[in-house]
Amino acid sequence: MSNTMKAAVWYNQKDVRVEERDIKEVKDNDVKVKVSWSGICGTDLHEYEIGPILIQTDNPNKLTGEKAPLVLGHEFSGVVEEVGSNVKNLKKGDRVVVNPVVTTGKHSPETDRYYDFYSAGLHTDGSFAEYMISPAENVVPIPKELPLDKAALVEPLSVAAQAVKEAKVKDGDTIAVFGCGPIGLFVIVAAKAAGAKEILAFDLSEDRLHKAKEVGATQVLNTKDKDAVAYIKETYPEGVDASLEVAGVKPTFDSAISATKPKGNVVVVAIHARDFEFNPISLMTSGVKLSSSLGYEFETFKKSIDILMDKNIDVNPIMTKKVKLDNIVEDGFHSLSSDLTQAKILVELSGEI
Ligand SMILES: [Zn+2]
Repeated sequence: MSNTMKAAVWYNQKDVRVEERDIKEVKDNDVKVKVSWSGICGTDLHEYEIGPILIQTDNPNKLTGEKAPLVLGHEFSGVVEEVGSNVKNLKKGDRVVVNPVVTTGKHSPETDRYYDFYSAGLHTDGSFAEYMISPAENVVPIPKELPLDKAALVEPLSVAAQAVKEAKVKDGDTIAVFGCGPIGLFVIVAAKAAGAKEILAFDLSEDRLHKAKEVGATQVLNTKDKDAVAYIKETYPEGVDASLEVAGVKPTFDSAISATKPKGNVVVVAIHARDFEFNPISLMTSGVKLSSSLGYEFETFKKSIDILMDKNIDVNPIMTKKVKLDNIVEDGFHSLSSDLTQAKILVELSGEI
């Protein structure tokens, strides 16, 4: 067997090359996964368009000792190809997903990821490649009923499921989702799975609102036509139980606070690229609890597999396109940034289902 593989390697901004790359050795506690499908994340797109952001180019990552050029990709599924000598709970042929984020384990599961960590596809080689090597403890088998293309959604769904957990969404709640990009759509899915009864979704794109409805939003509004807060207050004068801010701009941040009832949770999930003025008195007068969500706990990652297995959940509208690894830049990155109808683009590696 050859010890190189085809991979999409990040060299620099606007410089991702599909080329032959060495396959790393499988250490005693590692698992080698033959990648089936790997989704393109907003993070990958940002590293391509305006990076480096998280990828290290000068100083190697503290935990991995690695720096660019590195294989991109961290949202993936695959089949175990080989296991290290210490690995007993996994074997060749197991269908799996991999939590790409490795933390030190020195802190609680709720907070560990806020300290030192590394992620596959950013700080070590990732999954836009035929093979990916991961610590065995991050590898999770999936039920045989879950197709491998859908399983590649476990990672981005986990980001949303964690945000819904931080928002303390419970059975019967009414929630507002500001922003219906890929993560906003997954937030709707996770909120529905958590038992939210009414899910109000807001965006400026009709295409995205259409998708929001398909995946579980009970009401959608284009905020070009009407102010979201005015709309919400007509039916819910006290405000919604929780708001999730997934757009990342001041107007949606302000709306999320104004739309939520006193002691309700406002959770910022979006990356805010720009500073803006904010007076904390709006928290005092509204009485809302403002917090944020970043990444996910390993438990949340595992639970996201169950969400995908839920018969009432349909994530198919989120999988908008499948592309070949060779065409990842043109059909993947360029398409994702120019076409608002795209949500999650999957890159085909082995293509196994
Ligand atoms: Zn991601």
